[in-house]
Amino acid sequence: MDRLFACNRVSGEIWNNCLAIAGEHHKETGKWISKTELQRAIKRKFPLHSQSIQAVAHKYLEAREGARQAQAKGYPTRYPYKKKMNFVTKWAKDGFQVGTDGKIELSMGVWKGKRQKPIVVSVKEIPQGKIKEIELVWDNGLYLAISYEKEEDNKVEELTKRLKCWKSQIEENPKLAREEGVVALIIKTEDALERARARALAREEKAKGDSGQVRPVKLGAIDMGEIHAIAAVEEAGEGIIITGRQLRSNKRLRNKKYKEIAKKQARAKKGSRRWKKLQRAKRKINSKIDAQQTDILHKISRQFVDWAEENRLTTVVVGDVEGVQRNTSAKNKSNPKKKRRSRKVSQKLSQWSFGVLLTYLAYKLAYAGIELIKFPEEYTSQTCPVCNRRKKVSGRVYRCHCGYSQHRDIHGALNILAKYKHGKICDTGIKIGNTKYLRPIAMAVESSRRPEPGLWESGHRHSSVPQIVGSAKGS
Ligand SMILES: [Zn+2]
Repeated sequence: MDRLFACNRVSGEIWNNCLAIAGEHHKETGKWISKTELQRAIKRKFPLHSQSIQAVAHKYLEAREGARQAQAKGYPTRYPYKKKMNFVTKWAKDGFQVGTDGKIELSMGVWKGKRQKPIVVSVKEIPQGKIKEIELVWDNGLYLAISYEKEEDNKVEELTKRLKCWKSQIEENPKLAREEGVVALIIKTEDALERARARALAREEKAKGDSGQVRPVKLGAIDMGEIHAIAAVEEAGEGIIITGRQLRSNKRLRNKKYKEIAKKQARAKKGSRRWKKLQRAKRKINSKIDAQQTDILHKISRQFVDWAEENRLTTVVVGDVEGVQRNTSAKNKSNPKKKRRSRKVSQKLSQWSFGVLLTYLAYKLAYAGIELIKFPEEYTSQTCPVCNRRKKVSGRVYRCHCGYSQHRDIHGALNILAKYKHGKICDTGIKIGNTKYLRPIAMAVESSRRPEPGLWESGHRHSSVPQIVGSAKGS
């Protein structure tokens, strides 16, 4: 166990070294350090498997590239700068061996001319399928995240199985490990093959565009909301609505659980064992829900990008909510009643979700060769495109005195598109013929043989503890 912790400490050290080396390089040459140079600089300098060392460099370079792309698109992002005490350790395909007896051998590489003893972890259930990589992650506990491919009906699924590492699961006492078994199991499913094909197609098209054949611009526009995380339209008349219900119900569940625990904690003596236990439970709920929120946001952005690729969009305009919010808060200051927070704003995703979703969209669209443009969306939700009258929206459908009516979110997206294309809100003449309704499928939290202790319970054991997925659907 200590050795596992040490792995992530060493990885943290490698990360800090990458920061320092890259910083030095930039100071001296004024240029970004290249992948080869960085890899050479850290090679054989740490007591980990060579691939594990290089994986940290990869992650550093990825983070840098991500920040660069985001900055190029005008998002305020910093290049990686934070030092880390611990960092995820990754074992790629040469770095581990899986035995038939449930033992995973994590190679520690060669250090000072000597091959180090591998770390052996006993696991009750090794995933069936081709194991791609193993990561050691910390999330209120140490987990082995095993990524593997599962082939079924010509589909390849990329799955990740997270196994909680218990002290007893490590080599000192493998027998006990068997009895403890798998504790936490989180499975992510994505139809990897199909996505890869769509991406290849998009890249192909992009390459065509680069070689002189310019693709004609095809616009799409997004209106972000809370009930519908994304509502979008495109010029040819296709529409898509991706619900954000799960984000809300998930958050509501967190708030509810959080309050419950906080109430109990208020009765406990601060700093006492019980108080600390409840504190841990609070943290655990937060980290779990945050992971699920980002997972849902990933899926929403993926579903949208798939739709954009299907419809061969070249450019996507997204209503910039920040502008709107700033306006309203300025109004609020001049208004002593301070109550006039626009409904539109309160209906938006939380600032956090909005920012994360936007970032995911930016990366994924960029990867598919589609441009993303942020555009102020003032009054797009209120204005009638036919007669330009403004009114507050109420209900699902926007209806105007002049006879115009439209699904409220499609209406918003259409107005954003019109405003971007024609410089003003007007009737674009686009008839929305087909609207696709999607909801992101949240990652399943499978119940394991033994429920994870202390996750949804706080002191007492509730027998009807709701599963996140189930209750998210139900509420
Ligand atoms: Zn009207």
